[in-house]
Amino acid sequence: MDLTEETKNMSINDQNLQTKRSGYIDWQEYFMATAFLAAKRSKDPSFQVGACVVNRDNKIVGIGYNGMPIGCDDDEFPWGKNTPSPLDSKYLYVCHAEMNAIVNKNSADVKDCIIYVGLFPCNECAKIIIQSGITEVVYLSDKNGHKPTYIASKRMFDAAGVKYWQFKPKNDKIVINFTGIDWENMSPSK
Ligand SMILES: [Zn+2]
Repeated sequence: MDLTEETKNMSINDQNLQTKRSGYIDWQEYFMATAFLAAKRSKDPSFQVGACVVNRDNKIVGIGYNGMPIGCDDDEFPWGKNTPSPLDSKYLYVCHAEMNAIVNKNSADVKDCIIYVGLFPCNECAKIIIQSGITEVVYLSDKNGHKPTYIASKRMFDAAGVKYWQFKPKNDKIVINFTGIDWENMSPSK
């Protein structure tokens, strides 16, 4: 079923029903969608990635997207890629989504957690993932998998026993529509 349409009609369809509604998204879709929503916060003009760290109780403990470090002004630091001096391109400055999700965690640690991320982690993020105790990586795209950076990530994950697998979404899109829920016609709670 088209999830958009389903969401639009959910208050009508669910009225007076005794069973749970059927169109809800599952945990994996929810966590990957959360990573994608976080990516929308990125100011990077050419590359938006989000990450979501989840514990084994399905609780989100960290969310991040790629961005400049705290205190490093988005408008003053460079976002370019192929500049004559490396100091004028973004690479030396930007914090990747995985790093931000892990460092900004709201739990004591992320041991045995799962990280959901749009793009397969680079070697630097792979190190942080391993050192933080995360044991599973769920990614959507591995488009750069042939590059040394990502081959190195897999070599480290394999050695460290970090499981990784590609997420295949059941729905092409999950639309967040602020006017999509018909509050007026929803059954009142007693
Ligand atoms: Zn990275």
